[in-house]
Amino acid sequence: MTWDEPSSTATALLLLGRGTDPDTEKGVECPGDLPAPSDPGLVERARAAKAALGDRVFVLGHHYQRDEVIQFADVTGDSFKLAREAAARPEAEYIVFCGVHFMAESADILTSDAQRVVLPDLAAGCSMADMAVLSQVEKAWERFAALGIAGDVVPVTYMNSSADIKGFVGRNDGVVCTSSNAETALRWSFEQGSKVFFLPDQHLGRNTAVLKLGFELSDCVLYDPHKANGGLTDEQLLAARMILWRGHCSVHGRFSLDAVQDVRSRVPGVNVLVHPECRHDVVTSADYVGSTEYIIRMIDNAPAGSAWAIGTELNLVRRLALAHPDKQIMFLERNVCYCSTMNRIDLPHLVWALEELVAGRVPNQITVDAQTAHYARVALDRMLALP
Ligand code: SF4
Repeated sequence: MTWDEPSSTATALLLLGRGTDPDTEKGVECPGDLPAPSDPGLVERARAAKAALGDRVFVLGHHYQRDEVIQFADVTGDSFKLAREAAARPEAEYIVFCGVHFMAESADILTSDAQRVVLPDLAAGCSMADMAVLSQVEKAWERFAALGIAGDVVPVTYMNSSADIKGFVGRNDGVVCTSSNAETALRWSFEQGSKVFFLPDQHLGRNTAVLKLGFELSDCVLYDPHKANGGLTDEQLLAARMILWRGHCSVHGRFSLDAVQDVRSRVPGVNVLVHPECRHDVVTSADYVGSTEYIIRMIDNAPAGSAWAIGTELNLVRRLALAHPDKQIMFLERNVCYCSTMNRIDLPHLVWALEELVAGRVPNQITVDAQTAHYARVALDRMLALP
């Protein structure tokens, strides 16, 4: 069955980063005479640089990366799988992370001191991770302490957060979670305390608490760091079981209930499959909800002829559609929905990073300071010890 490319929007094109300001955006240019990504010479240069580096380099490709980059990945996966793959290859001197900044930080935390992690474009951040800044989170924690509830609150951070936030969680007896193990992490947390402070994705926190743990929506409150006192009264904080940070994914947050209803009216029998970073009304109206790895498994195991509308990043949905021509796979929204920061890693940046390594220079190295890395590792290790 054919794949219909969603139409693009002016916003998405703008976000895809036409042009840069070298004075303010350090580390986003790849200087040199690199041609456009479509140039066949670039593919040859990437192959040659990778071959020259051999086992000294290991290239990680997140599922949401462009095909032009994914073709050079030694392994593909979600952020946690990729960080573990990097740690399992101590012989690789350089880890080139085709993903976003927080993923490269996690790789640096989990790999040895001798390994160096490279992000081909430093502008590849994550809007969700950027929504939780350490000073804001510490301010919220001070409020909990002043109210006398800090001892009852267990901080839980989604993998999609900065090393600073993971370090905060590790220091305060909390745990990291992924979209695959959020339910287990929350159950563990509610054995340690009566409340959870969930960072930075409000949707994953709310969806897991309500759909998996049976909480009411009214058990959840939203802490907004841009409002005085987080926008919450003392009474609301005292009564809440889930204190959700006001953060979200700018990609998954775009899927709407209208889109679900629209596809159901157009495609009888369609299965709606979405990521738990989507809004609560979208998740509750979908047929299946799960992590990126779950989505891939569902489509791999789906019967021929079945129809699927998928609510996750477009590069992955397109790749699934092309890999399963016997199934009808469509993008849940009609408009384009790339992760604009993930897409900053393109073939010219990858070639530049690899050729710099061949020349003996390490470009755009991502490092996490020792103290932050220590406590972030504590929170990550707690996650690994979950049942
Ligand atoms: S898809 Fe969303 S959560 Fe993932 S990197 Fe992009 S903005 Fe961040």
